[in-house]
Parts: sequence; C-alpha cells; structure tokens
Amino acid sequence: MKDATLIIYNANEVCTLDNGGQGLRTGAAMDNLNVIEKGAIALVEDVIVGVGTTEEILDSFRAETQIDGTGTVLMPGFVDPHTHVVFAGSREHEFEMRLRGESYMEIAAAGGGIRSSMRATRAASVTQLIEESIPRLNRMLAWGTTTIEAKSGYGLELETELRQLEAIRELHKQHEIDLVPTFLGAHEIPDEYRDHVDEYVRIVIEEMIPAVVERGLAAYCDVFCEAGVFNIDQSRAILQAAKAAGLKVRLHADEFVDLGGAMLAAELQAISADHLLAISDEGIQAMQEAGVIATLLPGTTFSLGKKEYAPARKMIDAGLPIALATDCNPGSCYTESMQIIIALACTQMRMTPAEAITASTLNAAHALELGDHIGSLSVGKQADIVVFDMPSYRTLPYHFGVNHVRFVIKRGEVITV
Ligand SMILES: [Zn+2]
Repeated sequence: MKDATLIIYNANEVCTLDNGGQGLRTGAAMDNLNVIEKGAIALVEDVIVGVGTTEEILDSFRAETQIDGTGTVLMPGFVDPHTHVVFAGSREHEFEMRLRGESYMEIAAAGGGIRSSMRATRAASVTQLIEESIPRLNRMLAWGTTTIEAKSGYGLELETELRQLEAIRELHKQHEIDLVPTFLGAHEIPDEYRDHVDEYVRIVIEEMIPAVVERGLAAYCDVFCEAGVFNIDQSRAILQAAKAAGLKVRLHADEFVDLGGAMLAAELQAISADHLLAISDEGIQAMQEAGVIATLLPGTTFSLGKKEYAPARKMIDAGLPIALATDCNPGSCYTESMQIIIALACTQMRMTPAEAITASTLNAAHALELGDHIGSLSVGKQADIVVFDMPSYRTLPYHFGVNHVRFVIKRGEVITV
C-alpha cells in the first residue's frame, strides 16, 4: 500500500482525458474523454499519483482523507484561455442599447464600446482593479475554472496597460486561480490616434512592448486584427516586434470579416488564433499545417445575438485543434462560466459533449502551453480537479445554465464553492 493525502472513490465517471502524454487532441480523438466508470483518484499534496477504478485505487493506496464520490463526475479543472477579466466598470446600458437596435457606431458615439471600459480602467488604481476582478475570479472558480489567460487592453496607453498587467500578476499571487498574462495594447484604437493609427502602432512597438518585457509582465502579445481596428500589416508589425522581444503571440482573428487573420497566425506560428467566425477554408488549412490552435468563443456570438457561429465542425474535420474560452469581458460577453460555453458549443456549433469538454480542458491547457502540467487527470500532473454532482459528463451541456460543481480541487486543496 502506498500513502496518499487524498482519495476520491466511487465516482460515476472519472473523465481523465489522459492520452499518454501525446499532446492535445484533434479530429476524432477530441470525442474521447478516456472515461473510467466507478473511478477513483489518489493525490499526494498537489500531484496526481493514481487514477483508475475504485477497486484498483483502494487496493494500491490509503489516505487519511477519503471522499466518497458516489453520484459525481470528475474532470480536470477548466482552463479558460481567452479572457479580459481585469477591468473597471460595466456596460449593461450598452447591452440594452444593442437590443433596442442601435448600431455599434451609435453606441460608440454615445461613449460606449471598448473605449468606455478604457475610461473606467484608466481612472482605476491597481488596488481597485484587483478588488473589482476578485468576485469574477471567485465565480470562475465556483463554476470549475482553475486556470485562465487574462489580457490587458483597456488602458491603450502605457501606464494603464502596465497597471492592468500588474493587477493580473497580483491576482495570480493572491487568488487560487492561476492567471497567465497577455499584453493586448492593440485592443482598440484610442480616440487620440483615430486619424493616425500608425503612430499608435509605433508606440505599441517602440514604447509599450519594451516596457512590458522589461518588467516581465506578460507571456504573450495579442492584437485585435479586424476591419476598423488593426489591419494585417499593422498586426504583423506588432506581433513580429513582440516575438523579437521574447513574447509568444496569439491573436483575435477573422471575427467579423475574413481579413486573413488566420493566415497571419499561421505565418507567425502563433500559439492560438481566436474567434474565427469568418475564417476561410484556406485559413483553416494554413492554421492546421502550422499547428495553431483555434480558440472559439461562442459566448460572444450568443451575447451579441448573432446567428452565425465559428465553423467548429469543419475545423474538427480538417484536424484543427480546438479550444474553448469565455472571452469574459464587459462588452460583448460577460460570463465567467465555462459550463455555459460548453453548452453553447454543443447546441450552436454542433460539438459533442466530449469534444467541448476536451476543448475546455486538455486543448485549452495547450493553448496556454501548459499541457504537460494540467488539462488531464494523469499521474504526475497537478491536481486541478472539478467534482460535479451529476450522473454523466453528458449532463453538463444537456442540463444547462445551472452550476453542477460540488467542489473544486486546486493544487490538491479542496475548495468548497
Ligand atoms: Zn477577446
């Protein structure tokens, strides 16, 4: 008998997602969660040391704390690889304006849009940003998310971009959730540079990227490459400068218009290209060949009330790896729940429950280059686990809009939610 610190046994299903360390899952493999029925898991502190049937685990391990998992489903903690969770203020009035049929331009003219969050965020201290973001991180954790990516991008000037990244760093230290920081100085064109965008691009490249890198505040650089925001040449210039400075790159691509953002992601060997509602067949092929992950954000399409979602089925058939994320932000998609995103991925993009869960765990971990460490319930990986009160993983998107989490384990610590 080997000693463990915690055992959970008798779970209806343990969705391990284990594939023997073969990286992320694509194509038909996305539809396989490697489920162990009447399963169990054993931990030593923050590391998974055993996964198997209840019989196998109870024959091999003993622990002081043994939790009866009858009626539960175990999964790796959700990884949310695209969020704008650190911001000040909120924009519910704008949401209503949209519902009343006002256009983006009318809303922007009335002071709305990203620039509205920019004003509130510029006026906020690091402490205030942290205080406003903690309840959101608490909700993420309560709904089963244990690691996220978090972007700057509501400063659009050096000092505030740095403050936002400092808040992300501080939240990473203070909160149970791990935060991976991304610099998104090119999120929108600030008013003062509307008529000379290239000057703002120069500031991002020559002033912001070096300051962010010097302070070690970001792992990634992102750009909102879209019609009316940053074009392909401007996006390429920023992302090449970021790469030269030692940052990895990811980008908001082909959300509303096919500008060729997916092609650019492939050319730059981005880790991930996100949104992709308007992606071309050529873009799908280029990303697949370059090994770029497609991170899809169906919550945004839903919250904007649009009907056309990203072509997930076509991407899966083409062998493109898919991750899912909330895009949690105060404008186009204000939700912290990966459970809701999974439900939308199934009903609106025709992903199967298993594909959507793979995209929210193992593949999402790879979208943050953490796939060797988290994203599956494999021996040797960090013990980030969600324990759901439900009969099967299929219940998650089927019985939607409610929180199925019984408790969460982060780095081996049981967190009651
Ligand atoms: Zn975004």
